[in-house]
Amino acid sequence: MPDYPLDHELIRFFEQTKETFGPKFYENCLSGDNVDSNTKSIWSDQLSEFGESISSCQECQLGKHRNKFVFGIGDLHADLMFIGEAPGKDEDLKGEPFVGKAGKLLDKILSAINMNRHENVYICNVLKCRPPQNRDPLPEEVEKCEPYLIHQIKLIRPQLIVALGRIAATTLLRIDGNLKSMRGKLHDYHGTPLRVTYHPAALLRNPDFKRPTWEDFQFIRDFIQN
Ligand code: SF4
Repeated sequence: MPDYPLDHELIRFFEQTKETFGPKFYENCLSGDNVDSNTKSIWSDQLSEFGESISSCQECQLGKHRNKFVFGIGDLHADLMFIGEAPGKDEDLKGEPFVGKAGKLLDKILSAINMNRHENVYICNVLKCRPPQNRDPLPEEVEKCEPYLIHQIKLIRPQLIVALGRIAATTLLRIDGNLKSMRGKLHDYHGTPLRVTYHPAALLRNPDFKRPTWEDFQFIRDFIQN
């Protein structure tokens, strides 16, 4: 697992904050109370700094071939976090996850539940660099890159993670199932509830997936609102 110098800074920051505000501070944070804009801004800085600190990563072979490192986009305090498998061609060129046709469809679905990718939503991938010809992530690539994702989740602290597509879901959950068998239940990913739904690219290929996807997004909307 890569070593993060940032982890030590984070631990120091948390210890200092606890000393200053007392142990109740974190209980209040977890319940969403008393988190002032200054504290939120420090968390945002931590995420941006973390992204920058790994943006030249060469921990796996994908680092050599990328055009752009694709960290993630959205609200740094999002309750809802979408995770795909890896950047594709458009994402690699732009440095942003879920652009192109699939990304536009995801935006439309989000809009149907009155959400958007910049507000209370964060979008990223398991891998931060594009695999050649959009092949599936290799286990050794996941092994090197997943700790970054776990750290990202620790900083954002979403209420719900949504894995987009079978590859993202099986990679995160370490189970070998079809997408249908993983839908409709709450899984757990390092302590955060995780739901599985179709990848928007699959919806473009097969309109039959639209109805079950809509059911999934209704669940997602209700989960976040409650
Ligand atoms: S895919 Fe992840 S581990 Fe591999 S080079 Fe990119 S950032 Fe590093």
